[in-house]
Amino acid sequence: MAYLDSTRHDYEGTLTSLDMQVGIMRKGPSTRASGFTESVIREMTRLCQAHGAVNLAQGFPDFDPPLSIKRAAATAISKGYNQYSTTYGTMGLRKAIARKVKSYNHIDCNMDEITVTCGTTEGMIASELALLDRGDEVVIFEPFYENYGPDAILSGAKCRYVRLREPDFRIEEETLKQAFNRKTKAVIINTPHNPTGRVLTSQELGLVRDLCQDYDSYAITDEIYEHIMYDGHKHVSIGSLPGMEDRTITISGFSKTYSVTGWRVGYVVAPKPLTSAIRKVHDFLTVCAPTPLQEACTAALQLPESYYEQLRENYRKGRGMLVESLENAGFGVFKPEGAYYVWTTTDRTGFKDDRKLALHLITKVGVGGVPGSSFFHNPSHGRLRFRFSFSKKPETIRRAIKRLEKFSPNHLSGRSDHRMPRRLAMTAGS
Ligand code: GLN
Repeated sequence: MAYLDSTRHDYEGTLTSLDMQVGIMRKGPSTRASGFTESVIREMTRLCQAHGAVNLAQGFPDFDPPLSIKRAAATAISKGYNQYSTTYGTMGLRKAIARKVKSYNHIDCNMDEITVTCGTTEGMIASELALLDRGDEVVIFEPFYENYGPDAILSGAKCRYVRLREPDFRIEEETLKQAFNRKTKAVIINTPHNPTGRVLTSQELGLVRDLCQDYDSYAITDEIYEHIMYDGHKHVSIGSLPGMEDRTITISGFSKTYSVTGWRVGYVVAPKPLTSAIRKVHDFLTVCAPTPLQEACTAALQLPESYYEQLRENYRKGRGMLVESLENAGFGVFKPEGAYYVWTTTDRTGFKDDRKLALHLITKVGVGGVPGSSFFHNPSHGRLRFRFSFSKKPETIRRAIKRLEKFSPNHLSGRSDHRMPRRLAMTAGS
């Protein structure tokens, strides 16, 4: 995603000869929609498809969900769960989510405080539209998942960006304090973090909590990668911190944990007055999430602990394979603590422009990734950064690795500004 100058008219319509004769300028799209571009992440997927590249750009699995939940979806369809559900989610699913949120996230909630949405994506925009007004400010940690920018623009709020500094991407108290003021209505949290892989600690979340209390602000927290962590890192939900009960909107979903990104089922947990507002917005945006898939997601929440352990173990192996390959190819790697992305520096690849690098990788090497600039409000901050995903089968990762060998500096001897790679793996948060 990139921002466009919303004070400028970027769209001028197409003048027909009749328009020109009568001197009429066609009315164009809203200023709101003109404030940002399409998603770069999704654009990279289209480019990978067009060029037959291995798609390590958009973070979605190329393997199937567990058989039991595929069966549950098919059964739900054949048993007649094919019409709208209650707009904010079936009772069975909301009950199951309430149980999971209590036991896993340590947030005490009941089914009246849950809204089932079309993915976490809808959960985020519905929450922001329900909470934010024009003139409000929202704090966003940077780099950030690209949807957060347009979400804030669509809700009319002004963004204040707080940098997570390399190499550890920790929340710094002083920097965060400077971003808060009396207009701050919300702070967007994302842990485990996309794109850096950082898993925020209770101590860092405590800093956010203190500021939310001081400025009467809310935390909107995207925890879609809550089950994907490595090396003993533990997921902490800011909504479980004392004092955050009434000021947290916790958003998660089924896409990543159960490898069903195309099902579009997510949910929002919020105190009742906020849930009422979120449910209204959700109703008019999408009515409800797909009914048979809500049935299947209810079954997903019954999977045993071993399922989650296996998921993490598979991703841990994928992380190891991709990290090593990227280092060999000359990328500087921040080893992720969680989620399934590798955030890299490209200084030593010889490419000074992340989009040129993306095109080169897709069209010449056959591997897709996401240009770093799409994770910053000022694209120049991400020109030497690049994101790869390892949410793929081992054979897919191996295919990408084989292709990345072609990108190895040894094969780029003609490039004048290229230097041999130094192996440097930095652990995010270390
Ligand atoms: N979260 C995924 C990513 O960052 C993609 C999600 C999406 O495209 N809706 O790649």
